[in-house]
Amino acid sequence: MTLSFTYQGSAARIVFARGASARAGEWIEKLDCRRALVLSTREQADAAEALSHRLGGLSAGVFAKAVMHTPVTVTEDAVNVAARLGADCVVSLGGGSTTGLGKAMALRTDIAQIVIPTTYAGSEVTPIIGQTEGGAKTTIRTQKVVPEVVIYDAELTLGLPVGMSVTSGLNAIAHAAEGLYAEDRNPISSLMAVDGMRALKEALPVIVGDPRNVGAREKALYGAWLCGTVLGQVAMSLHHKICHTLGGSFDTPHAETHAVMLPHTIGFNAAAAGGELGPVSEIFGGSPGQALYDFARSIGSPMRLRAFGLTEADLDCAADLAAKNPYSNPRPIDRASIRFLLQEAWEGARPS
Ligand code: NAD
Repeated sequence: MTLSFTYQGSAARIVFARGASARAGEWIEKLDCRRALVLSTREQADAAEALSHRLGGLSAGVFAKAVMHTPVTVTEDAVNVAARLGADCVVSLGGGSTTGLGKAMALRTDIAQIVIPTTYAGSEVTPIIGQTEGGAKTTIRTQKVVPEVVIYDAELTLGLPVGMSVTSGLNAIAHAAEGLYAEDRNPISSLMAVDGMRALKEALPVIVGDPRNVGAREKALYGAWLCGTVLGQVAMSLHHKICHTLGGSFDTPHAETHAVMLPHTIGFNAAAAGGELGPVSEIFGGSPGQALYDFARSIGSPMRLRAFGLTEADLDCAADLAAKNPYSNPRPIDRASIRFLLQEAWEGARPS
């Protein structure tokens, strides 16, 4: 076997410990910053206010208007608020939506970011930023948006509802599964993908039965970090393309869409990348698509695209879009196959 690869680690400093978010102020100072704007969604405004209170004089205030898909209008509002309050950094407390807002602000102003993730989406360790303007979503990769510090504190994830824990965990597993067959994968990304998947496979069933089990929460967060790092390092393929298409064109919910599609896209690609997907079989037990399907069902994941209000006509349109622009994928992509796997996902059938 010949080895040939390029590898670049992330510039983000990772701080991983229970209770570590209580020391966010120290990290603000280590970054030579003085006033942080705390970002969150409206749903997590109370947690953001509490964090702001703990930061005392290091907090410039709270901006609790982050929403899904990073609309440019919200970012511009946040940039103006940060300037008005004299903020020199942000502390993003939340999931991918809140992290996305901080990254979009950094893209425009280079403002320093400390991220405290509370889901398993993984955006905090990627150089990827997706934004929406006038209904159109554009995604770019740039090191400019990589946060300076990421604080993983499992105690802040204890309240993540079970349903969201399940879909967000499957979203993370999707990054790792596609990372295994990425053309530009490297030995480190593959190691992280395998360990990340294994951690989530072990943690998610425990969380379903006991959501406040901090050991399982910690393991899931560790897995999310690894899987997110894989997403940030290597190119994604069919699975992410289809989920992006469904989310962008039909506004299907992000993590749930990943959860439903995962067994079908990975099952499809297993025909061409069975060797690369060997760890999926080993960890989940069975052929990759069916094993992921059985695992997702066992932890109560949504299983049917139909539940998101999609019609069969929408599937035709999604298949056209997903087959249109060429992208790297281990198995050649043709429209008929994509339409077939969308149908199976729509019905919630076990992948054949
Ligand atoms: P999210 O950030 O939209 O969160 C969903 C909801 O859950 C929000 O209301 C949020 O406030 C709430 N929430 C989050 N953590 C919670 C907790 N611990 N307790 C209670 N409520 C909590 O969802 P997400 O799946 O994390 O992120 C999705 C967004 O992130 C999408 O827009 C997606 O495109 C983006 N994303 C980007 C990247 C990237 O690399 N750029 C990677 C993954 C996801």
